[in-house]
Amino acid sequence: MEQNEHAARENRRRFDTHNIRCVNLLGGAGCGKTALLEGTLPLLKDSCRAAVLEGDLATTRDAKRIDALGVPVVQLLTEGGCHLNATHVQQALEQVSLDELDLLIIENVGNPICPANFDLGEHLRVAVLSVAEGHDKPSKYPLLFKDAQLVVITKCDLLPHVDFDLDIVQTDVRRVNRSVELIRTDIKTGQGFDRVAEWIRGSAARPATENSAAEASGG
Ligand code: MG
Ligand code: ZN
Repeated sequence: MEQNEHAARENRRRFDTHNIRCVNLLGGAGCGKTALLEGTLPLLKDSCRAAVLEGDLATTRDAKRIDALGVPVVQLLTEGGCHLNATHVQQALEQVSLDELDLLIIENVGNPICPANFDLGEHLRVAVLSVAEGHDKPSKYPLLFKDAQLVVITKCDLLPHVDFDLDIVQTDVRRVNRSVELIRTDIKTGQGFDRVAEWIRGSAARPATENSAAEASGG
């Protein structure tokens, strides 16, 4: 953990030196993290230069989806590891041209548990929850939501077909994270992606100290 914190600090210093905002995208497997990037990155293209680090246990499938958008991407394979750590990110940064970047999004390994315990050096955390996972998840996995600056509720087109109470989610999320913003997305109609893009653009413009994930969690 101490080693991770050291590497995270180094990463954050590098991002700050290059004036890059870094977002750590967290959520369970299949919650729609990559789909969220597919919906959001095209809307950010004109206003900032973005790149993505794709964390997965195996395969380069998600990296290929990002590559198809014309966004620079590095696939990080943990070979069975269930979370990314700051050293993974440090190594991946060797393959990124930091001078040509305004925004770096790290898609973490699909897992609602331990990725939340590892600071990667990001400035902002975005937690993703799909309506298919159930409204009990924020109460069962509070750490995922606790240090996030944004919570995205995905797959809202499925709401008529699943038992998912948005009010319960909102109440349980706010219990651990009082002021966090929630945005609903729906890949069928594209609803919400413009708001997520707007949020990232706005947050990226703010000074680093205002919304650093590490400072929010007291680290
Ligand atoms: Mg993915
Ligand atoms: Zn893990």
